[in-house]
Amino acid sequence: MDPTATILVVEDEPAIADAVAARLRAEGFGVHVAHDGPSGVAAAAEHAPDLVVLDVMLPGFDGLEVCRRVQAQRPVPVLMLTAREDEADTLMGLAAGADDYLTKPFSMRELVARVHALLRRVRRAAELARDGEAAPVQRIGDLEIDRSGRRVRRAGTDVHLTPLEFDLLACLAQRPAQVLTREQLLAQVWDWADASGTRTVDSHVKAVRRKLGGDVIRTVHGIGYAVGG
Ligand code: CA
Repeated sequence: MDPTATILVVEDEPAIADAVAARLRAEGFGVHVAHDGPSGVAAAAEHAPDLVVLDVMLPGFDGLEVCRRVQAQRPVPVLMLTAREDEADTLMGLAAGADDYLTKPFSMRELVARVHALLRRVRRAAELARDGEAAPVQRIGDLEIDRSGRRVRRAGTDVHLTPLEFDLLACLAQRPAQVLTREQLLAQVWDWADASGTRTVDSHVKAVRRKLGGDVIRTVHGIGYAVGG
């Protein structure tokens, strides 16, 4: 629980915006609401939120553009709201910095669970970065993973991953050649207790492959994913 966190909700449908804002306030969060792309970007600059809940289809410019502009100001976790499940793959690939998505209609219970999980994950990463001893850079083939600096290089070239993509790769690489199921990855990377979002894992694996090459993460059919080995 992080009752001191501030959340920005960018959503043009008043009924959804009101319901999301009311539920998050009831959880103890500070909440700001914007109803279109440009005011969403302005509100992010003004309030420096700890997390952004962002609808994809917005007046002005869309959620992807909002995500890009907000991430350019400062890194912040983003939970995208999509109208269709099949938009998710495209979204996670295009939206630089989007960490997770929910498909409408979603339950407020699920929204709150995702928000808490994202905030926990970000806080844990920050604690690790602050307290952790400098870990040696891990090499798997031509892949270099620098956990302390949270940097990845392939064949000597820096590759930019979102924080969540980095955590996913680092989690798999921690146990080279070992296969992790989607459910294990959800629990360890996303900090989800339930396994309702296994498609989220697939979307992020696709995003990592697009950036680092298709051979970095292996699919083990019927089981899950592995790195190396
Ligand atoms: Ca909308």
